[in-house]
Amino acid sequence: MTALYPGSFDPITYGHIDLVRRATKIFDKVVVAIAVNIGKEPLFTVAERVQLVKEAFKDLHDKVEVVWFEGLVVEFAKRHGIRILLRGLRMVSDFDYEFQMAITNRMFAPEIETLFLMPSEDYFYISSRLIKEIVALGGSVNRFVPDFVEKAMKEKLLTQKQDR
Ligand code: ADP
Repeated sequence: MTALYPGSFDPITYGHIDLVRRATKIFDKVVVAIAVNIGKEPLFTVAERVQLVKEAFKDLHDKVEVVWFEGLVVEFAKRHGIRILLRGLRMVSDFDYEFQMAITNRMFAPEIETLFLMPSEDYFYISSRLIKEIVALGGSVNRFVPDFVEKAMKEKLLTQKQDR
């Protein structure tokens, strides 16, 4: 069975990676689906986010597929015949939003189930947003993201500064 793991992945963190690795032990295939239309202006373009996620799973390329999508995730899942949506639960604070979204998705597509996995306690508190803030303030995030992600973030922030 295939599971679809949708999100912004701006950028991918060890939390996301931990979740996908757990999921590959349960599902035959995990499709990481990167949302183009995220509310806030993303740090990375969708093409860059796809690239970073692909790099993160290059050792698992037979089990992990990376795609991007626009519009409702349930429509994307239906089009590809996928019936499982995977999401991560960190703290209690994720619960409200995730619960609301899972129920709403179920209204649009009752045949699709949302399943939740919990990351290792090492990654329980990390989010892409926090990591972006740390890098913007000059801190090191090597405990939270792979080196190539940290490097890409630093380069991106540097070019953004030069553009200003
Ligand atoms: P979104 O903007 O859709 O929340 P994210 O990329 O932030 O996209 O997250 C995608 C999914 O991964 C969400 O279900 C989120 O709760 C989960 N997630 C994010 N960070 C972690 C983490 N550190 N551990 C476990 N799950 C996480």
